[in-house]
Amino acid sequence: MIEIKAPVRVRFAPSPTGYLHIGGVRTALFNWLFARHYGGQFILRIEDTDEKRFVEGAADDIMASLRWVGIDWDEGPDVGGPHGPYVQSLRQEQGIYAPYVEQLLAAGHAYLSFTTEDELAQMRAEAEARGVKAFRFRGPERDWPLERQRELAASGRPYTVRLKTPLTGETSFTDLIRGGDRITVQHDQLQDIVLIKSSGMPVYHFAHLVDDHLMGITHVLRSEEWVPSAPYHVLLYQCFGWEAPAFAHVPAILRSDGRGKLSKRKDDVATNRFWERGYLPEAMFNYLALQGWSYDDKTEIMSRDEIVERFTIDRVQASPARWNPDKLRDMNGIYIRRLPVAEVAERMLPFLAKAGLIGDPPSDEDRAYVLQLTPMVHERLEELQQAPELLEFFFRAPQPGAGGYDPALLVPKKTEPSQAHDWLRAVHAALNAVERWDAATLEAALRELGESLGVKPGPLFGTVRVAVSGRTVAPPLFDMLAALGRDEVLARVATAAAALE
Ligand code: GLU
Repeated sequence: MIEIKAPVRVRFAPSPTGYLHIGGVRTALFNWLFARHYGGQFILRIEDTDEKRFVEGAADDIMASLRWVGIDWDEGPDVGGPHGPYVQSLRQEQGIYAPYVEQLLAAGHAYLSFTTEDELAQMRAEAEARGVKAFRFRGPERDWPLERQRELAASGRPYTVRLKTPLTGETSFTDLIRGGDRITVQHDQLQDIVLIKSSGMPVYHFAHLVDDHLMGITHVLRSEEWVPSAPYHVLLYQCFGWEAPAFAHVPAILRSDGRGKLSKRKDDVATNRFWERGYLPEAMFNYLALQGWSYDDKTEIMSRDEIVERFTIDRVQASPARWNPDKLRDMNGIYIRRLPVAEVAERMLPFLAKAGLIGDPPSDEDRAYVLQLTPMVHERLEELQQAPELLEFFFRAPQPGAGGYDPALLVPKKTEPSQAHDWLRAVHAALNAVERWDAATLEAALRELGESLGVKPGPLFGTVRVAVSGRTVAPPLFDMLAALGRDEVLARVATAAAALE
């Protein structure tokens, strides 16, 4: 059992380079759960120092995506906090990083490097030509006195600031998730990484670390892709003389076939796509919690509170998680079925409005009608976006023939079209005469009609089902008829009968 010392402070620090990948939400969620479980704080920080990859509006999408699944933050760009601003470009503008660069330079832990990109590429190519497998850059200026570095910089030569990584020795760190394993790296496997770009912008390695320190972050839970960078970070903490936070690298999420990681290029991973498709945030929350964490071997459906209560870091696995869209869909279906009918109706409204089946915003009649229809599809819904497809015929009369349903569907096996036609005429007359328009009365009327015609209920009801819905598979027939109303049903039955003439 890993002991976590309170008070904990964790953060999610996305880069606004595009929409938020659902795997990013999982990492944010683990941080959030960690904070809530151990009674600490969760901070949101936007890491936008990479000007080339910056995407306008991405930070807003990230925040909307997190809010959607129910993740809130105690400090962040929009809510503020004692360690703001929570956007790195603003921190850079305020000069927050500059003294720390100076501190490293003055202590000889970093140096000004004048090697250009082109020169670096050439050196790498030459090294490769000599058979060097992994080229590890160490700038010649690392051995110059700082004065000489500064003079050259003052002459106008562009430069970057690099970490003067030790040439010998080793660095170790422990990872809370990898079973508290010690990960050790030999310094000759490292290189002099850039800390500050020639534009003056800090890179991730530098900026996140200064911020984590200033913001009092106690535990860094981040994607496992950062494991190889961690030794640099440990070295940097030593250079500054700061205590390093505890590290916990959360497992990658693999594609459903296990071939590689879930990727923006190949998979449907934009968080906003899940709400467009009608995933319930509570289902998504539950599913994402299980991507790399488990409570026991069997419990899957858990409420937010249960997950918060049960989430401990020692139950986060080191091995990769596997994305399973079918399972997510099933889980969403379970969550939809658990909602009260009125709530499902409410959540379907935007989907029906978007499909043009009801008004936008929906009128009171729209709402009442949708509420009446909901029990008929409640059990079958797995994504709310299915609602327009499942319910369309309640709003638009199906048409037999080209562009609509095939009139042959009206004719059961071993039946002639003329017979089906006669049934429909008889159904029309019977329904026209029904006194009370409710499911039970309608059922009694059609059963009685079947008997008097000498037709089994199966084929007869099948024909009526197609006549009113245009489909062979539809919600329970008599509920459907009751909801559609007498005029609409009679009109559809008449249209169907005419199609068989
Ligand atoms: N900005 C980094 C990213 O988006 C943050 C990584 C971290 O959590 O330290 O990957």
